[in-house]
Amino acid sequence: MPFSRLGLSDPIVRAVTELGYTTPTPIQTQAIPAVLSGGDLLAGAQTGTGKTAGFTLPILQRLSSTAPANPQARPGVRALILTPTRELAAQVEENVRGYARYLKLTSMVMFGGVGMNPQIEQLKKRVDILVACPGRLLDHLSQGSLDLNSVEILVLDEADRMLDMGFIHDIKKVLAKLPPKRQNLLFSATFSEDIRGLADRLLDRPALIEV
Ligand code: AMP
Repeated sequence: MPFSRLGLSDPIVRAVTELGYTTPTPIQTQAIPAVLSGGDLLAGAQTGTGKTAGFTLPILQRLSSTAPANPQARPGVRALILTPTRELAAQVEENVRGYARYLKLTSMVMFGGVGMNPQIEQLKKRVDILVACPGRLLDHLSQGSLDLNSVEILVLDEADRMLDMGFIHDIKKVLAKLPPKRQNLLFSATFSEDIRGLADRLLDRPALIEV
């Protein structure tokens, strides 16, 4: 089945076609319609399965087909993607930029170990999609350089690794700063008790996908 049959718009199909993708991977075939429907999602997927496009493409579609939930407010972050490591954050944001090349959506990557000030300057501009590691995200939240009141979609990518790295408290603090009405997507390679507990707390009647 081609990407266009999954309900994705022409600018998104054009971008993935130019990147050389001809056929959606199994996770993409399942995740794209599920995310487009607006519901929550619990997905079991390893790296290398194409999971990044599986959540990014339908997020781009949703954000580009609807106005921000609160158009009066200063444009704020509409999709927040949390990742366990800087490397993954950088890689995911690079993918987002590639897939969004024909859309008017902007993205930013945020992680620690680099200066705060360039990030603060970037946050003053429009950021539709923020890919972040939890620690630095909390630094910005606590010093007031970021608010998350406009977030419509949350992704926890490689959630099992985030818990293994001890991020559960950071994740809970971030969740407390998000508007309650939003779409939540949780991706994990493994399903421990802890992941199931997090999924139970976070997700509302999620679609289930395992590849
Ligand atoms: P991921 O599992 O998201 O890290 O993706 C693994 C790799 O597969 C990345 O380099 C993607 O660019 C590539 N990829 C993702 N989806 C497709 C697809 N449908 N066809 C070909 N390559 C893909």
